[in-house]
Amino acid sequence: MNQRANLKLSGQTAIVTGGSSGIGKACAKALGKAGANVLIDFVGNPAGAEEALTEIEASGGKGMIFKADVSREEEVRALFDAAREAFGTVDILINNAGIQKDAPFVDMSLKDWNFVLNVNLTGQFLCAREAAREFLRRGPRPEVSVALGKIICMSSVHQLIPWAGHVNYAASKGGVMLFMKSIAQELGEHKIRVNSIAPGAIKTPINRMAWKTPEAEKELLKLIPYGRIGKTEDIARIAVWLSSDESDYIHGETIVVDGGMALYPGFRDNG
Ligand code: NAD
Repeated sequence: MNQRANLKLSGQTAIVTGGSSGIGKACAKALGKAGANVLIDFVGNPAGAEEALTEIEASGGKGMIFKADVSREEEVRALFDAAREAFGTVDILINNAGIQKDAPFVDMSLKDWNFVLNVNLTGQFLCAREAAREFLRRGPRPEVSVALGKIICMSSVHQLIPWAGHVNYAASKGGVMLFMKSIAQELGEHKIRVNSIAPGAIKTPINRMAWKTPEAEKELLKLIPYGRIGKTEDIARIAVWLSSDESDYIHGETIVVDGGMALYPGFRDNG
């Protein structure tokens, strides 16, 4: 008997955007190991996406890698076409691709403002819209999931916590919060389940400067009551759970996974 048939996400297909590094790569691997076929989107360097695919295949799973810039409508369409062609449909979107382009506010260029908003917010719009269209086109498949489809937006604690020097990033993640809730409100009646994950500080290339020296790491730890920097697997586990029927009644919610970073740790010593 095929043992993978009993896995939590068997028979489903997931797209993970920005899947060649960091959180996206870990999500791709975890979804693949949970039984899903995984389409790993990347821009630039395919090596990380290939590594994730190799690991999924070694565990008996299936997937493919595909190059698409989430901020470009035609490339997002091509990404979903590729998933349909390879696996028939899409059941899960991990809307993960994201970037930072930091600068003091008065020095921030329009180019860098637009770049971050285009990837972090417009990219999530384009991918989620394409996913919802595919879920509605395909119709229910109760044999694989109670929901018609699942969309998981990778937000950040900075959907809540203002971030000086990173206003484009914080604005994009604040935007993701109400984007996610609004589409959850609109798509719920179709049984399309939409949620976000808001990571705190997770060790990945996006925030290397914050942990690459012992001094930087010590400073960062002051912001994390639980006393450790997050690992990509901390997020991937939640992504698998939110993708599965185990979380079926969670809809329009953000799960903050941050070791307590959003608990105003500056107030620990009486403010
Ligand atoms: P990362 O830099 O490793 O991953 C981001 C990925 O997005 C990269 O693989 C990159 O190639 C890809 N990407 C960038 N622009 C793209 C585009 N136009 N189209 C497709 N892919 C694109 O960093 P990460 O930490 O793994 O970030 C993943 C997500 O998690 C981001 O949305 C980020 O904002 C969010 N996040 C990260 C942290 C953290 O502490 N690492 C905290 C909160 C939120």
